[in-house]
Amino acid sequence: MIKTYKIEIQGLVQGVGFRPFIYRVAIENNLSGSVENRNDGVVIILDCTKQELEKFINIVQSNAPPASSIDSIKFKEIEKTEFHGFEIVKSTSISDSITDVSPDIAVCNDCLLDMKTQPNRIDYPFINCTNCGPRFTIIQDLPYDREKTTMQKFKMCPECNREYTDILDRRFHAQPVACSVCGPEYKLHFKDSKITDQKLIIDKTTELLKNKGIIAIKGLGGFFIACDALCEETVSRLRKLKAREGKPFAVMFSDINTLKQYAKVNEAEEKSLLSLKRPIVLLKEKVKLAPSVNLGFDTIGAMLPYMPLHYLIFEKSDLKVIVLTSGNISDEPIITNNDKAVNILGEICDAVITYNRDIHNRTDDSVVCIMNSKERIFRRSRGYAPSPVKLLTNVNGILATGAELVNCFCIGKDNQAILSQHIGDLKNIETYEFYTESIKKYKKLFRFEPSIIVTDMHPDYLSTRYADEYDLPVMKVQHHHAHIASCMAEHGLDEQVIGIALDGTGLGDDGNIWGSEFFICDYKDYSRITHFEYVPLPGGDKVTHEPWRTAVSYLYKYNGKEFFNHNLEFLKDIPKQNIELICEAIEKKINCPLSSGAGRLFDAVAALINLCTVSKFHAEAPMRLESIINEKNKDSYLFDADEVISFKKTFTEIINDLKKNIPISDISAKFHNTIVNVVIAVSLKIREKHNLNKVVLSGGTFQNKYLSENIEKELIKCDFQVFTHSKIPTNDAGIALGQLMVAASRK
Ligand code: ZN
Ligand code: ZN
Ligand code: FE
Repeated sequence: MIKTYKIEIQGLVQGVGFRPFIYRVAIENNLSGSVENRNDGVVIILDCTKQELEKFINIVQSNAPPASSIDSIKFKEIEKTEFHGFEIVKSTSISDSITDVSPDIAVCNDCLLDMKTQPNRIDYPFINCTNCGPRFTIIQDLPYDREKTTMQKFKMCPECNREYTDILDRRFHAQPVACSVCGPEYKLHFKDSKITDQKLIIDKTTELLKNKGIIAIKGLGGFFIACDALCEETVSRLRKLKAREGKPFAVMFSDINTLKQYAKVNEAEEKSLLSLKRPIVLLKEKVKLAPSVNLGFDTIGAMLPYMPLHYLIFEKSDLKVIVLTSGNISDEPIITNNDKAVNILGEICDAVITYNRDIHNRTDDSVVCIMNSKERIFRRSRGYAPSPVKLLTNVNGILATGAELVNCFCIGKDNQAILSQHIGDLKNIETYEFYTESIKKYKKLFRFEPSIIVTDMHPDYLSTRYADEYDLPVMKVQHHHAHIASCMAEHGLDEQVIGIALDGTGLGDDGNIWGSEFFICDYKDYSRITHFEYVPLPGGDKVTHEPWRTAVSYLYKYNGKEFFNHNLEFLKDIPKQNIELICEAIEKKINCPLSSGAGRLFDAVAALINLCTVSKFHAEAPMRLESIINEKNKDSYLFDADEVISFKKTFTEIINDLKKNIPISDISAKFHNTIVNVVIAVSLKIREKHNLNKVVLSGGTFQNKYLSENIEKELIKCDFQVFTHSKIPTNDAGIALGQLMVAASRK
């Protein structure tokens, strides 16, 4: 019997070709009815039998457009209405609460094929369709419509318009639709000349790249700098030009098979590499690229082409792999403006490629790493932002300003948290501008007006100062409580849990620097059960650049000046007088804040074994320590876990190992295993006493793959339920989500 059904689909279903897809499924199955975009999804009305309904839902679930994602499908019978045919109803009911803005999507295979066959799109690098192309980076306002994107200045040619209006065409309502007749174009700035012929641009680009050239290229969310990743001379020149001393460069391979020649790739890693989000994936190196690409690390940050131009460059040259690093100087945000790129990047690059469509929202390449077969996001930007995190709680009207160093902010819309793209280190003036501008843009785009602001407790964070300047109630949340809350939110947990935050720094309730917290907590509150014992940080902030100071502090704490007798290698180049001064400063408590930060402990060990005494970029010492681990070594060191966790015995054993000339790769393995043991031992103790079985892990230290994988595995072996991050970063970029949740629960 034919009845009328109303089907509601929620999820990312707008701006990704969902309505035309529904239309085609209905037509192919001879069904009458309608489809309409609503506030939080798509509503379909169908005249059909129960069987036809089930078949329809099945097809929708299994064949949905690749860039869409369905959260739920609900249906119910409604009053019988008669339809003649199937139609797309013009959206009338889009109100303030519409929040799904699609992230940018890598060019699809159909478009790559069209690039070879469609006369008006042969080698046309701005090709796109309803399944692919720019989205967030060009959207100025909602609803998502060409007029409200930076494509508005391009008037569609008759052929593009035909596709755009033909419901059966795969470019139906593809807002950025374009071709070589009517769409955006590249321009190559080389010396004093400008090349506008599109074919010549590709020729010149490949010629330059093959001959040691360095080129700035405008990408989706900003400029990137490219050069041949197999040519050491060029890569080391780029390093000098970019004033980037030690941080590895990301690289783009021509295709997955070439990539597999240089890096080890498992199934989950391949899936991330090939996903439409096309992130940079951290992989174990197999064959060395130019040494200056990753400077001694055993990992490669690798990605695959995602813009049509990338495909053209590889296709028209025999390049296998190029460096593709953010187009910025040092820690500034990636450049998005054409003139600025020509002026600033033009100074250091041999050529600059711009195009005449504006980037409205800046995004950088996203960075992920696979741990225990799950994707973990280190930098959440292109392809990921601004996808919302769905919550069980209403968080409407809350603005969370995030932390400081790897900042992201977060806004609450009903039951969704919208986390901004990676912003960066707010201490940089240009980054701070990017931050305040982005908050403005999000307010407009998502029709958001805050009623409460929530920040970190740290009074000096620029994100805190930003909030204080607002004329609104401000809530403060402890840094590591926010870390744990962010991971709980990801998993929809709302109960007391064991929260373990291993992290660099964050201000604690007692005024000390926290960062190795074992909590019992929920969203509202926490109690600190134990932590790594405090150690003075001689020189305060200086220690992050000079890990040897922290090593000295640990040694002095545990055995006074006895370490002078050990003839430690890492102290050989440091004048004894300077070391004495540090001991004196510790003794007199001059500029020696106390820290329980796990990151500092890793710093100290990396320095103690003389692996990294001075750090050239954020978290270099822990990263180097991780990269040398001998994974075959399952031994560990002693430690004490009483009221606080002490590593006195650990340090004594490490010094003994150094005296015995045990390789540092073994010492590193034993140290990492020790931390795993600490987490297990303390978790067991807390479980026994408080009868809690859910363990939530968060904090920057969990970017350490060896540590994370082993802690998770060992906890599971002990029958704990373990919750780790996979949708948002475990580092400070995830903090804002936790702040939001804590604020919502305390409100
Ligand atoms: Zn496409
Ligand atoms: Zn056209
Ligand atoms: Fe943190």
